[in-house]
Amino acid sequence: MFESLQERLGSILNGLTGRGALSQADVAAALREVRRALLEADVALEVVRSFIDKVREKAVGTEVLKSIKPGQMVVKIVHDELVSMLGEEGVPIDLNAAAPVVLMMVGLQGSGKTTTSAKIAKRLTGRQGKKVLMASLDTRRPAAQEQLRQLGEQIQVATLPVVAGQSPVEIARRAVQAARLGGHDVVILDTAGRTHIDEPLMVEMAEIRSASNPHEILLVADSLTGQDAVNLARNFDERVGVTGLVLTRMDGDGRGGAALSMRAVTGKPIKLIGTGEKMDALEEFYPKRIADRILGMGDIVSLVEKAAETIDAEKAAAMAKKMQSGKFDLNDLAEQLGQMQKMGGMGGIMGMMPGMGKMKDQMAAAGLDDKMFGRQLAIISSMTKAERANPDILKHSRKKRIAAGSGTSSAEINKLLKMHRGMADMMKAMGGKGKGGGMMRGLM
Ligand code: GDP
Repeated sequence: MFESLQERLGSILNGLTGRGALSQADVAAALREVRRALLEADVALEVVRSFIDKVREKAVGTEVLKSIKPGQMVVKIVHDELVSMLGEEGVPIDLNAAAPVVLMMVGLQGSGKTTTSAKIAKRLTGRQGKKVLMASLDTRRPAAQEQLRQLGEQIQVATLPVVAGQSPVEIARRAVQAARLGGHDVVILDTAGRTHIDEPLMVEMAEIRSASNPHEILLVADSLTGQDAVNLARNFDERVGVTGLVLTRMDGDGRGGAALSMRAVTGKPIKLIGTGEKMDALEEFYPKRIADRILGMGDIVSLVEKAAETIDAEKAAAMAKKMQSGKFDLNDLAEQLGQMQKMGGMGGIMGMMPGMGKMKDQMAAAGLDDKMFGRQLAIISSMTKAERANPDILKHSRKKRIAAGSGTSSAEINKLLKMHRGMADMMKAMGGKGKGGGMMRGLM
């Protein structure tokens, strides 16, 4: 899967990674090629557009870490954007409901619904030790019911016996009832497909849904149909509601347009991918793993991640030293706040300094939450260089200007200055005596 895309992206990005310096024009040219490669891979235009915009924005805005070549940085940015486009985290089938949990499989004829139903059943009975019942609701094609029965036999999973003349809705009800009586954990309803979406199909699906109250409605779509699969997902979701997607025939899909567009276009997670005809050819869809597979540059990605961690640690250590020496102006505070924001909130450097572990609790108690960092940073960035280096010169008129520039108030600026003064004093004291106790009063 993804072979052709992998080859294209590989050669574009390889051209960048070896170079010592990259101009904006180099990056722009590479991104044009990435754009073309994605479009040729049949990724939806809107998805490609937003992907390229985000990569460009980050490529321009990110400072290149030392020890990393600019091209490697671009690879990492592309990688992260791919992961984000694919949905960040893997989303497994959700069985968190009262038994029997009903999984309703929907999709067009030939998409791989029956095969996938059996693959899921096999996985649930095997690895997860669930008791599963499968039922075919395809009354139009008796061969479909027989196919599911045979697969059930092969993987040793129970199938609901066929009762001639029952409607799909009746079968669905009977399946849920049988599962309840038989103590099954999961019921898989394999609904009938059509060659294309039509009104009777949608009505039937909606009726089955009302009759069986499924916990998951999984749309099975053939990845080889590319953007048709994406449109199909959108249609099914609008009419029946879909909780997740299964893309089949990924083993034959060198382009990957459906897999890459699905999440971004429909907002629904791809939960599983089918990678062959055999019963165990089913994989969970992990965005990071898929992105690694597409780029085939896992080494570079982890190299950049490591470098970023090192830089953060180095910066934090330098800052801690500066703080302890007592030289701590508003530029430093801004950096500290930025760092905190980056590290996901309170913590960061505070944790590295002896006696300061408690400081973050006190800051939180004083209403200094993570949301405030943004406002404080805005205040500091509205100051002049001289003001940041020497906050004592901040008198009324300057404060008014800064408040207007940052969309805050003089009161907020005062609060920030007070906090800074408290911190600076405390650091000086700590640098001198190495003790933090009792200093926190100066903070707010
Ligand atoms: P349904 O009509 O939607 O129930 O489709 P089926 O389950 O009968 O599948 C149709 C054909 O596609 C069968 O020959 C399956 O073996 C094949 N198939 C299903 N999933 C995959 C897959 O992930 N990869 C490959 N190569 N073939 C698949």
